Amino acid sequence: MKWVYSFGDGKADGTAAMKNLLGGKGANLAEMSNLGLPVPPGFSITTEVCSYFYKHDQTYPAELRPAVEAALAEVGTMAQGRLGDAARPLLVSVRSGARVSMPGMMDTVLNLGLNAETTEGLAKLTDARFAYDSYRRFIQMYSDVVLGVEHSLFEEILDSEKEAKGVDLDTELNADDLKKIAGLFKERVHKELGRPFPEDVHEQLWGAVGAVFGSWNSARAVTYRRLHNIPEEWGTAVTVQAMVFGNRGETSATGVAFTRDPATGERMLYGEFLINAQGEDVVAGLRTPQPIAKVVRERQGGKRPAMEEALPKTFAELSAICARLEAHFRDMQDLEFTVQEGKLFMLQTRNGKRTAEAALKIAVDMEREGLIDKQTAIGRVDPSALDQLLHPTLDPSAQKEQIAIGLAASPGAATGEIAFTADEAEKVAAERRDVILVRTETSPEDIHGMHAARGILTARGGMTSHAAVVARGMGRPCVSGAGMLKIDIANGVMTAGKHVLKRGDIITIDGATGCVYKGRVGLRQPELTGDFSTLMGWADSIRHLKVRTNADTPQDAATARKFGAEGIGLCRTEHMFFDEHRIVAVRQMILADEESERKAALAKLLPMQRHDFEEIFKVMEGLPVTIRLLDPPLHEFLPQSEQQISAVARDMGWGFVELRAKVNQLHESNPMLGHRGVRLGITYPEIYEMQARAILEAALNVEAAGGVPVQLEIMIPLVAWKQELDRVKERIDAIAAAITTERGKVPSYMIGTMIELPRAALQAAQIAKSAEFFSFGTNDLTQTTIGISRDDAGMFLTDYLNKGVITRDPFVTIDAAGVGELVKIAAQRGRSVRANLKLGICGEHGGDPDSIRFCHETGLDYVSCSPFRVPVARLAAAQAALASINEVD
Ligand code: ADP
Ligand code: MG
Ligand code: MG
Repeated sequence: MKWVYSFGDGKADGTAAMKNLLGGKGANLAEMSNLGLPVPPGFSITTEVCSYFYKHDQTYPAELRPAVEAALAEVGTMAQGRLGDAARPLLVSVRSGARVSMPGMMDTVLNLGLNAETTEGLAKLTDARFAYDSYRRFIQMYSDVVLGVEHSLFEEILDSEKEAKGVDLDTELNADDLKKIAGLFKERVHKELGRPFPEDVHEQLWGAVGAVFGSWNSARAVTYRRLHNIPEEWGTAVTVQAMVFGNRGETSATGVAFTRDPATGERMLYGEFLINAQGEDVVAGLRTPQPIAKVVRERQGGKRPAMEEALPKTFAELSAICARLEAHFRDMQDLEFTVQEGKLFMLQTRNGKRTAEAALKIAVDMEREGLIDKQTAIGRVDPSALDQLLHPTLDPSAQKEQIAIGLAASPGAATGEIAFTADEAEKVAAERRDVILVRTETSPEDIHGMHAARGILTARGGMTSHAAVVARGMGRPCVSGAGMLKIDIANGVMTAGKHVLKRGDIITIDGATGCVYKGRVGLRQPELTGDFSTLMGWADSIRHLKVRTNADTPQDAATARKFGAEGIGLCRTEHMFFDEHRIVAVRQMILADEESERKAALAKLLPMQRHDFEEIFKVMEGLPVTIRLLDPPLHEFLPQSEQQISAVARDMGWGFVELRAKVNQLHESNPMLGHRGVRLGITYPEIYEMQARAILEAALNVEAAGGVPVQLEIMIPLVAWKQELDRVKERIDAIAAAITTERGKVPSYMIGTMIELPRAALQAAQIAKSAEFFSFGTNDLTQTTIGISRDDAGMFLTDYLNKGVITRDPFVTIDAAGVGELVKIAAQRGRSVRANLKLGICGEHGGDPDSIRFCHETGLDYVSCSPFRVPVARLAAAQAALASINEVD
């Protein structure tokens, strides 16, 4: 068993490919060493030792100690020193490194190997101030990380010494001061722990190694792993490396650099450095670092010189190394370096994190530069992040005062006047002023206000609340569940802690972070660059899945087409009924006792629905459009509060008691599995007949006016029995026949169903005899399969995620073991009787990259998602196709 891998002097035992064993940091240090780059020598103790450590009661394999001794001796030879030797002291850093970077989660100890003797030795070889400063830093860091002594105790000592001497800065302390401070530090540790600070350098080393392995299981590392789905078994490696010093005067420095600007993707050496400082100082924020490149300093208007100006020779060397590393790793690098008295050392390199904007630009630029091919470029952009590019964002430099925080429910930022009701919002918007709709929670009756608003803020509700789902669908920024908000509609005020805001006051919400700010905060409008369409074009040429959109209005349909939608996968018809001019007729229809009365009300609705469809069909220009006939229970169209009931009763000439009874009779509560969907279509066949007529006539009209006929797909919701579908189908076919008689022809259409009940999935072979297509309504299928109501789930789903009961929100990513199984069964059984059965998905999952991959693997024909998710889905579909190509390889 090889437990230890060395690197240094232009060679290494390991390579970049060995991240699982050496950790990302150790593997890339080995790689840089193999490339002949200046890397201080060192060695990595493998992640297998970490696994051993945890399996064997925190002990090490017997062969580890001799292997470490040998590797340490080699490092000593290369670095011309020896751990613990006062005449030639070797100092090392002990660094952690998992397979994937877990920034700030684990520990590092610098300057290890110092004790009273070696510090004295170092002082003779270099200078005393440097030696004692390093010593007191080491005691502080080691005590904190390894011995668990509070960092602040040392800060107190340091502060009181500075005060006693009457100075403000650490740099004003001389060698004697620092020597005294180091002594006080050690005394303090002794007092705290009841044993002295270790003078034995080997004890120090093993203490630090144990602490790094121990930090793999620190509370914050465990939480981080859970949030990022990192398996516990991976473990961390420990890298021990000879120290180099950036704090040896004006020709020494330390810094971090990116080979491209991580915010914009611009190709330049981007980063910061500090003269006369050690690694930790750059991040600690005690001194403000200076930019590396001169152009950056000029753009920022900085006075202090850039590295390019202060250390031009080293800068040139660093630039050359960066170019080499980028070409070698074929990706943007994030690196750490230190300059010791004019000599450059590389301490770390890894693929750099970047914004969505930068990811896009870098991927496309690198393909053009010949560094990567198109397939690699497609894989370089996180589909979920694309969403951010399509919405306005907060100007990062703007001043802002946060007043509340909720869930980041729908991306984008928005600013506007507060409105507390949908009607208010609509009124303000009609006067061409920006408005934010603020509600305790929203309901379907608020749709018009949500549409009119720039953004939506709610005090209650989770990521899958009505507000969140509808806002995402509409592409409106939304912050939901901001629990600290108290909304008093009657008095037109809301309070958030000490802040009191009135109707009409301006607020800004950031749907990407969940933050709510007082007043107007500057926004940046998104700019879709040429890179965006280039990458999308590459994705389109690779994917098999078609991407459609869920759209109920011509506006949404147009937005989605702009983003590349290839059809409508779900056009819900109920939203069309909420319009204030129509709701009266809808209510007359619902409340009618006689069929004739109902028909009269429906006759009023027919031309309106027909017009809606005509507008949508025009926009879609011949693409497929799936229209779902009326789905929700009827109570959603009726007033709910006593006040509203009394107002509607007055308007409609009904008695209050009578109306309230009717409302109660129709009322359903979540998950609303009673009288709705096709069941409604069977009890009130006239409704579906009207809708079918509106659809068919609209298509005819569009065609007659010279438009391209759309591919009509009429979709029946909530079917559980084949016979339900047959019943409805018969009626629709009869309407089509009637239209043929009246107009001489009728457009062709398909009839299919939503698969949103477990029974429907299991009965797919039966249902597919009548259905020409299936669209998986995975929202309801999730509710009915796992028995969790979507609206009520928010709170405890979060709790389940925290407790690790589940790792994914089943309303975001298809639950593979339940819903996913049913989808597979239905697809397979459906196609066994109808080979060309068209299969799609229209739940919220249609815009989720992991679910899209599942749909690709299951052989669906298309996914359908909200307009703003269309680019996300196009890219995710391409990545899914690439993943299956790679699996076959
Ligand atoms: P992290 O993963 O938190 O970045 P690192 O192991 O990279 O931790 O180390 C923290 C800091 O110490 C970095 O700035 C790094 O450059 C510096 N550092 C680590 N090892 C050495 C060394 N051998 N010589 C000089 N500085 C070092
Ligand atoms: Mg680092
Ligand atoms: Mg449904």
